[in-house]
Amino acid sequence: MSKPVLVVGAGPVGLTMAAELARYGAPVRVVDRLPARNTRSRALAIWPRTLELLDAAGCAGAFVATGLHAQAVSIHAGRRTLARIPFGTIASTFNYLLMIPQSETERLLEDHLGTSGGAVERGTELTDFVDGPDGVSCTLTHAGGGKERVEAAWLIGCDGAHSFVRRRLGQVFAGDTLPMGFVIADAHVAGLPVPPDEPAIFWHPDGAVMFFPISRDHHRIIADLGPVPLHMPDLGEMQRIVDRRGPGGITLSDPAWLSDFGVNERIVRHYRTGHVFLAGDAAHVHSPAGGQGMNTGMQDAFNLAWKLALVMRGEAAPSLPDSYGIERSGVARRILSDSGHMTRIVLLENHLAQRARNLVVQQGFRIPAIRRAVAGRLSGIRIGYPDSPLNAGSARGLHGPAPGQRLVLRQGRAAGGPPRLVLAARDSAEARAIIAHHPSLLAATACPPPDENGIWLVRPDGYVAAVARNGNGSVITAALDRMTSQGS
Ligand SMILES: Cc1cc2nc3c(=O)[nH]c(=O)nc-3n(C[C@H](O)[C@H](O)[C@H](O)COP(=O)(O)OP(=O)(O)OC[C@H]3O[C@@H](n4cnc5c(N)ncnc54)[C@H](O)[C@@H]3O)c2cc1C
Repeated sequence: MSKPVLVVGAGPVGLTMAAELARYGAPVRVVDRLPARNTRSRALAIWPRTLELLDAAGCAGAFVATGLHAQAVSIHAGRRTLARIPFGTIASTFNYLLMIPQSETERLLEDHLGTSGGAVERGTELTDFVDGPDGVSCTLTHAGGGKERVEAAWLIGCDGAHSFVRRRLGQVFAGDTLPMGFVIADAHVAGLPVPPDEPAIFWHPDGAVMFFPISRDHHRIIADLGPVPLHMPDLGEMQRIVDRRGPGGITLSDPAWLSDFGVNERIVRHYRTGHVFLAGDAAHVHSPAGGQGMNTGMQDAFNLAWKLALVMRGEAAPSLPDSYGIERSGVARRILSDSGHMTRIVLLENHLAQRARNLVVQQGFRIPAIRRAVAGRLSGIRIGYPDSPLNAGSARGLHGPAPGQRLVLRQGRAAGGPPRLVLAARDSAEARAIIAHHPSLLAATACPPPDENGIWLVRPDGYVAAVARNGNGSVITAALDRMTSQGS
């Protein structure tokens, strides 16, 4: 039997990675050192692009049925609404923000992994590994202290911000810790003057207080602490912050979780070292402003899994996964920059600057194009890989996405089975010839193209690898040839 991929960490990223690999039929083991699933809510937001990818994987329905569908986010100063950004303009089937506790996300991902026959091995810690020419020799330590040697084809560190895999590789986690902290409470909220399923942010000269719906009767409340050192808040302190910074008349009760947290903005230089990869918080951490951390990590997994599965099947060149780090580090850098800007805008201390900010936001968000642009950027649907080494051809003169851009195909959801790229082209001798040339990489039938005059080569993770005008199909064939032979 071929060596498995060893996924370390069963947080949302490790679970997505393991579920995708298992769905593609790749041998995979996923271990977590904790004896049971984490019950903390932590990340709450799943954005449309992540839902699209979950949909392609066949499991979005369970998420959509479980979470709250937030239709907008609003920004206020006291009782004055400065801006309301609706999500209905997002060009996706999922044109809303799904609010769902991370513990539920992990439960649903684990159920989904189970549908491909996978299961998390808990109480199992990766304690050592050595990368060699043919794979990675890993040491697992079980809860009782017993050791197990695993020969893995690939090791994927999805082991969170304090990643053992990253440290063992000697990788620097370059970046900064912001000189301020936040307090957090999950509690019942009465008297909030916005729809109960919409996030609301209140700006005040002292700082911000933010409300994120978790369920019909509970919200996550987050406030920055200013220059006060990090400390565990109690409900009384949270209520005082809400009274001072909120619109008035809000009562907190029944706290399920009280905590504090600091903000780090860090990223690794290399996502791949030999047969070892990093994904999720192990590779990048940033401010929770914008709610992108978990989403970015899960999208790392969707990017890498199909590439590894194809290489393991001998259907793609071993160099194919090199594109993972190039593509995903670009995305993480942009998210780091966006969330850093958002955090600094929220935390402005100078009162004149705060007034100017409020005015700019109030005037700016009156313009529909700005509201649409911000919603689109938050949604993740604009994420793309313009500099990917896999890109070929051009969409110039065609009505459709360029190489590296997202393309959601109007075809049935992919069932399990080996990953396949899809040709989006009108049925023609040319399209059939391309498919016949690469039967093991391409789905057997083409699906409708965005423009009848062109041919799009779409990756299993829903991004365009190559585009050509009809009659120029050699561009597509050459792109497929490179995937199978690059560097091998
Ligand atoms: C308060 C808060 C709010 C947040 N809100 C949002 C939000 O709204 N939206 C969003 O997208 N993100 C949000 N985030 C960020 C989000 O929680 C993280 O980005 C996400 O959990 C990262 O997932 P992960 O799978 O990479 O790591 P983790 O969730 O940290 O999982 C890592 C797993 O690895 C296991 N592990 C570690 N070392 C080993 C080892 N040696 N062997 C075996 N197992 C190991 C751990 O036990 C753990 O289960 C928030 C974070 C915080 C703290």
